[in-house]
Amino acid sequence: MRSVYENKVCYLSSMHKKERAIAPAFEKFLGCKVVPVDINTDLFGTFAGEIERTLSPYACAKEKCIRGLNLGNGVLGIANEGSFGPDPSFPFVPADFEILYFIDRDLEFDLMLSKSFPQTNFSGKSIPTLEELAVFADQVLFPSHALVLRPHRLQDSRFIFKGIRDAGELRSVFQKCLELSSDGLVWVETDMRAHMNPTRMKNIEALSNEMAVRLAAPCPSCKTPGWGVVKKMPGLLCKMCEAPTELIKSEIYGCCKCKHQEELENYEQKAEPDFCPFCNP
Ligand SMILES: [Zn+2]
Ligand SMILES: [Zn+2]
Repeated sequence: MRSVYENKVCYLSSMHKKERAIAPAFEKFLGCKVVPVDINTDLFGTFAGEIERTLSPYACAKEKCIRGLNLGNGVLGIANEGSFGPDPSFPFVPADFEILYFIDRDLEFDLMLSKSFPQTNFSGKSIPTLEELAVFADQVLFPSHALVLRPHRLQDSRFIFKGIRDAGELRSVFQKCLELSSDGLVWVETDMRAHMNPTRMKNIEALSNEMAVRLAAPCPSCKTPGWGVVKKMPGLLCKMCEAPTELIKSEIYGCCKCKHQEELENYEQKAEPDFCPFCNP
């Protein structure tokens, strides 16, 4: 048996084909079958902004997961939530921040994993001409990645065109938006929905692998699945002067259910003096 989840069903709340990214990892590491349940996730807000997002991404992922579970009347549930914007550590670089939320109602625990991916085509621009449109479309990996268009100065959800993946359609939709726009500009942005964005789908897949591997690891104390790193501790000592640096000294492993934790220290390694507040102030 691969895991306690062998031959069980995990309900995925999604309407954007995310099972393509999540199901293979759950099959490979857990033997668990991921079944999509069609909940209207747009109710929680949309990327194109017609419906405002009111919950935090974490709360949203959890809420989606609960709704999918209720709908499928299941025991295991998973949901994903993505958000996009400047990377907190590199403010000028866009990042794809992905969350996976897993619930096991039988063993009574939740596991949330998140990760910031620098791999993203996330971008948006107001564009006046077809020539500029062509340059932008190239930069953001069109047509393998879809685009969303709307007139720049006209906020009306009837005139948002999503999921554009065809060059001819892109030109005709652009002309239409230009006619409707009061300032001669069309707002063009990347479609960030998973089924329209292979780069994002890959990121969700990578996080799904982490989630599945982790669910295959039982707590050494109570055997609940999901044993893994819950905290990273800075303080790795400097090679030259032995002063603590900001680099990671140890990882704390923890359980999703009981309070058991173990610290795994990086004994072998020392920090390069470049990272030392004394040697390289
Ligand atoms: Zn435990
Ligand atoms: Zn030092």
